[in-house]
Amino acid sequence: MQSTKTDPSEHLDVLIIGAGISGLGMCYTLKKQRQNDTFAVIESRDNFGGTWDFFKYPGLRSDSDMYTFAYSFKPWTEREYIGSAERINNYLSELVEDEKLIEYIRFQQRVIKVSWRSEENKWTCTVRKSDGTEYKIYCKFIVSCTGYYNYESGYLPKFEGADNFKGDIIHPQKWPENYSYKDKRIVVIGSGATAVTLVPKLAAESSHVVMLQRSPTYIYNRPSSDGLYRFLSSFMSAKFTNKIMRTKYVLMQQITYFLSKRFPNFMAKIIRKETAIALNDGFDVDTHFKPNYKPWDQRVCMVPDGDLFNCLNGGSASIVTAHIASFTENGVKLKNGEHIDADVIVTATGLDVQLWGGMMVEVDGHNVTPNSLTNYKGMMFSNIPNFLMIFGYTNSSWTLKAELSYQYICRLLNLLDEKQYSSVYPYLEEEQESEGIVDLNSGYVLRAAPRLPKQGLHFPWRNKDFYLKDLLAIKYRDIEDGVLRFDDTEHLAKFHEKAAEKRRNADEANC
Ligand SMILES: Cc1cc2nc3c(=O)[nH]c(=O)nc-3n(C[C@H](O)[C@H](O)[C@H](O)COP(=O)(O)OP(=O)(O)OC[C@H]3O[C@@H](n4cnc5c(N)ncnc54)[C@H](O)[C@@H]3O)c2cc1C
Repeated sequence: MQSTKTDPSEHLDVLIIGAGISGLGMCYTLKKQRQNDTFAVIESRDNFGGTWDFFKYPGLRSDSDMYTFAYSFKPWTEREYIGSAERINNYLSELVEDEKLIEYIRFQQRVIKVSWRSEENKWTCTVRKSDGTEYKIYCKFIVSCTGYYNYESGYLPKFEGADNFKGDIIHPQKWPENYSYKDKRIVVIGSGATAVTLVPKLAAESSHVVMLQRSPTYIYNRPSSDGLYRFLSSFMSAKFTNKIMRTKYVLMQQITYFLSKRFPNFMAKIIRKETAIALNDGFDVDTHFKPNYKPWDQRVCMVPDGDLFNCLNGGSASIVTAHIASFTENGVKLKNGEHIDADVIVTATGLDVQLWGGMMVEVDGHNVTPNSLTNYKGMMFSNIPNFLMIFGYTNSSWTLKAELSYQYICRLLNLLDEKQYSSVYPYLEEEQESEGIVDLNSGYVLRAAPRLPKQGLHFPWRNKDFYLKDLLAIKYRDIEDGVLRFDDTEHLAKFHEKAAEKRRNADEANC
């Protein structure tokens, strides 16, 4: 993609960082609702789309329904309600083209540091271009749409003997383009959404695929298109069809999540029963599909038209639940003494969670680390002024929360204008008793927890990932809630100095 403006230093109202689905939606919303604002989108890659353009492994698709994952302002008009990466990218390209969003995006530029100065009520952002040169952007407000993982590399545990393996070892985050796996024996390590997506795709062309998991995951089966959509779209406009479908899927997600939390054993039984029905008689469901956690303590995976179960039934794929002892020259040795032969090993072992795209954040000269902060309404951070992050739901579509956040930001900017305030931040005197920011206990969340911000025990410091509750609390409640402080930055330097000192002491103690 072509970069547009590259002013060596400039002043903007809002800087959006990242041109994934979150950044594009933010850009669209600002363009529509804040016509007098100046803003730009800085994107480190050479294309927009983020996750959906970046991952190249076969079969990449959403496992959310697209009625809620697509924006409310642009209906999803495909018959399938699960979006392939290609379809999602086409959908985003249409938005960029129709709304001329390309004019705002600067590709192959990375925001490496943002620094707030209370005296000026401004952020100074250091942007590095692909040729290594840097320039500054001064802005009033930052919206970080940088996603939640490190694009440089995924999570790869150390496997004993990995150097001895003679075939290819591939992490899905670095899938080689046009990689041929025809007639190869493949082992996919993992049982999360990526493994579940990959296995049926690979099974179609390879000699055989083994999905090798340490422990089982909840997996449920859904048809790939929805009868109600097919019926409504035959006579109704896309706009109204989508409204109805969106409502249906929001309610379904919320009810399922609520029931899973309230009656976990009952929901676990239902999922397992459905799995058993989808698999051949005699399949060992309890060994391979009975997780030792409750539904939605970790993400529940969805497979369209039972594709994973079909290839297990047909014999093109199999599943092994066991611990790895080591890689060997020609496969994987298990702790139970068995050996799985392989030509290719795919390490679908997860992501390396990272906030703010790895950029350095400073407030009044003090370096700020995410783990010294508490999250406010799932969007802002304790004592960080004029800074918002778009972070979607983990238990329903990401974009539902992203859209609530867009509306909130516009309301907040309107309020700042109306009352002629220059700065706003959620005030927190002391860190509260806290919990992890993400309500999941998946490996990638637990690994990152010490580096991430916390959440408090009560709203607005608590983010329960519940859309219908957020809808009321974020969309309709007054912005001025007694927690947000306006034009009152005196406390900031002190707070961050104290946090930095605490970190230094902890580091010294660790040494
Ligand atoms: C394989 C996979 C499947 C998923 N499936 C679903 C799903 O079905 N449903 C769902 O709700 N969620 C899903 N998710 C979560 C998914 O990441 C979000 O839904 C959504 O795509 C995130 O969009 P985003 O724009 O916030 O972040 P991203 O897509 O990660 O985009 C962030 C962008 O910011 C850029 N960037 C980062 N740091 C900087 C910087 N410092 N300077 C400049 N640019 C920067 C990146 O290059 C990137 O383009 C999935 C995630 C993965 C990895």
